[in-house]
Amino acid sequence: MNTNAILVINCGSSSVKFSLIKPASGETLLSGLAECLLSTDAKVTIKQQGDKKTYKLPDPFDHQAALSVLVVQLQQLNLVKDISAIGHRVVHGGEKYSQPTLITTEVEQAISQLAKLAPLHNPANLIGIKACQAAFDCLPQVAVFDTAFHQSMPEKAYMYGLPYSLYKEHGIRRYGFHGTSHYFVANQAAKQLNKPLAQCNLISAHLGNGCSVTVIKNGESVDTSMGMTPGEGLIMGTRCGDLDTGIIFHLVDNLGYSISDVDKLVNKESGLVGISDLSNDCRTLENAMLEDNHVQATLALTVFCYRIAKSIASYSASLTQLDGLVFTGGIGENSSWVRTEIVKQLGLLNFSLDEEKNQATRFGASGNIATKNSRACWVIATNEEFVIAEQSAQLLTNLAK
Ligand code: AMP
Repeated sequence: MNTNAILVINCGSSSVKFSLIKPASGETLLSGLAECLLSTDAKVTIKQQGDKKTYKLPDPFDHQAALSVLVVQLQQLNLVKDISAIGHRVVHGGEKYSQPTLITTEVEQAISQLAKLAPLHNPANLIGIKACQAAFDCLPQVAVFDTAFHQSMPEKAYMYGLPYSLYKEHGIRRYGFHGTSHYFVANQAAKQLNKPLAQCNLISAHLGNGCSVTVIKNGESVDTSMGMTPGEGLIMGTRCGDLDTGIIFHLVDNLGYSISDVDKLVNKESGLVGISDLSNDCRTLENAMLEDNHVQATLALTVFCYRIAKSIASYSASLTQLDGLVFTGGIGENSSWVRTEIVKQLGLLNFSLDEEKNQATRFGASGNIATKNSRACWVIATNEEFVIAEQSAQLLTNLAK
């Protein structure tokens, strides 16, 4: 199988991120983003070798229109011949998919059925798959699932304290997300440790607009903070994370909320934006805290960091050894303030930061920011697209054998 380059597609409800990656070298030949889809503002931006161009999309302003623009550009740049497959990020693979999978009609049906567990994500991923089938009809398509890395979690980590029948009959259990990112940074940390991933014990914190912490034992995910949906666990940009279920009954029974109001509240109006009443964006909150002494921005960031530190500390229960902690995601890679605030609460686990290294490791820089006497603490820029390209290429090579 010639796996020259893989076109990686990450399709959201109103956006498509794409990258054309050579898995052997990791080189990105082209990348871009289609955004504001299904509105008249729909546009696609394509970057190639330092050149960046934006195109307005024609009616019907949808995913198919975005991919048509991409195909024309790929043709003009003479890159279509280099593409050997399309790798799709698919958010929910349930218990069925723990590995990258060649997309067939049966797999599409399974992704569609799993939409009941990921109603915001899987339908959008399917739109991307269908649009790519129409645009690149003779190329194989591979699904790489965000839940797959966490399928190694033991029962004790994935069961809720609910009746067993809800798990058995309806799949209500913890699945975890951001798996591709946690897997990538764990591999990079293993390289830093100069030992195989299977011998590494790590805790990784993916902190972006969505946030999750994963504990990795002997190279495998054994617990993670997100659950059946990405709503569980940490405080995030707009999601509240863990919540006393009694609050939902109180909102509905006594405060006039409907179920869809609660859904909007916990997923779109809570977390950093909810507490700060200002923004879900960490940069905005840091500026407001440091420059204007904004009380609610300070509170939002303080609660955010405490919850992360508590989560990291709780995962020491899953391990007998710990090689180090990894920060990744937009906040984890860039906010030295957030990293300081988290790590200063982890002294009992023998973590302490070298502040000079911490301040210097931002904007794409990677490295160990811990003091000499501390356990390792790395900042690692995540690269989910590369994992999707690499795993798609690997699957196709294996299938061709
Ligand atoms: P992601 O979802 O991984 O793209 O991360 C988005 C989050 O990263 C947003 O909250 C941003 O404010 C945050 N972020 C990006 N750059 C910085 C920065 N330089 N300092 C602090 N937070 C940042």
